[in-house]
Amino acid sequence: MPELPEVETVRRALAETVVGRTIRDVRRSRQRLRDDAGRALVKRLKGRTITGLRRHGKFLLIDLDAGLTLLSHLGMSGRWRFERKPPGEPLDHVHVVLEFADGTALRFQDPRRFGLARVVERARLAADRSLVGLGPDPIADPPTGARLFALSRGARVSVKNFLLDQRRIAGIGNIYASEILHRAGVDPRRRAGAVRAHEWDAIAAGTIRVLDEAISRMGTTLSTYRTLWGEPGGYGERLRVYDRAGKPCPNCGTPIRQIVQGARSTYYCPVCQSRSGRPRANAPPQRQASPSTRSGPARRRMEHRKSTP
Ligand SMILES: [Zn+2]
Repeated sequence: MPELPEVETVRRALAETVVGRTIRDVRRSRQRLRDDAGRALVKRLKGRTITGLRRHGKFLLIDLDAGLTLLSHLGMSGRWRFERKPPGEPLDHVHVVLEFADGTALRFQDPRRFGLARVVERARLAADRSLVGLGPDPIADPPTGARLFALSRGARVSVKNFLLDQRRIAGIGNIYASEILHRAGVDPRRRAGAVRAHEWDAIAAGTIRVLDEAISRMGTTLSTYRTLWGEPGGYGERLRVYDRAGKPCPNCGTPIRQIVQGARSTYYCPVCQSRSGRPRANAPPQRQASPSTRSGPARRRMEHRKSTP
C-alpha cells in the first residue's frame, strides 16, 4: 500500500509532467472507486487546466483552474500512469482516463478499487470529509518529540498503531512505522502512553530521516506500487526490518522478528528496540543507515566494545 514517500514520488513526477495541460476529455470505467463522484467527475473535469500538485499525507491534491481540486488517494493499489502517446500499452483495471488537449493522457489504474478521485471546490478542501480529520503532514510540518509526547499521554494503543493513526500524523503506513521504530530503538509493542520523552525525540527524528531517505529513492515497491513511468521504487533494499523476518538486524545481527498488530505485520529487532525505555547494558548503539555502515554484525560488536566505557 503506498505511503507518504510513494505518494510524494508520484506528486513530484506529476508536477513535472501535467501542470499546464488542459483536460479535453474524461473517460470512466463502469466500476466505482471508493467515495466516488461518478458522472459528476467527468462533467467537472472537462475543459479544466491543471495548475499545481500538492499532497497531504497520502492524499494527492491536483489543483485545477476555476477554483477546483481533484482529490486523489491511491488506496491499496492505485497508480497514475502518464502516456505521451495514448492509448499506450493495454492495461486492465483503468478506471479514470484524463485526455489532454495536446494528445497526452493520464490513466488511473486500480485493481482493488480502494483508490479515490473526486473533484472538490478548493475553498472547501479544509473541511472536506477525507481531509478534515488528518493530522499534520510530517514533511510540511515535521513532528517534534515534545508534540508526540504530549499527544501520546494516556494513549493505550501500541506505539506502532499510534504512528499509523492518520489523525496524529498523516502519511505513515505499515512499512515506515516499523522502520521508524527500529531507527528510534523503541519496541513496537510498547503502549504509546508509556513511551518516554527522549524516545519520542528519537521517533520524531527517525520519522523525518526515514521518510526523507525513502522519498530520495522514490519509495518502496513490495508489490503494486510504481512511479508515474511504471518503475518500481528503490527504497526496498534499504529497509532494515520490514519484510525481513529471520534476517539479521543490520545494527546487531539478531534475527528480525515478525508479529501481528491490528491484523497487520510488524517487524522489529528484539535487541535494538527497547521494551522499557531504559538503556540496556548489552544493547549496541543505534546507527545511521547508509551503505557504508551496513558492514555486518561482527564489526558492529567490535565498534560497540570500543565505545563502551
Ligand atoms: Zn538489532
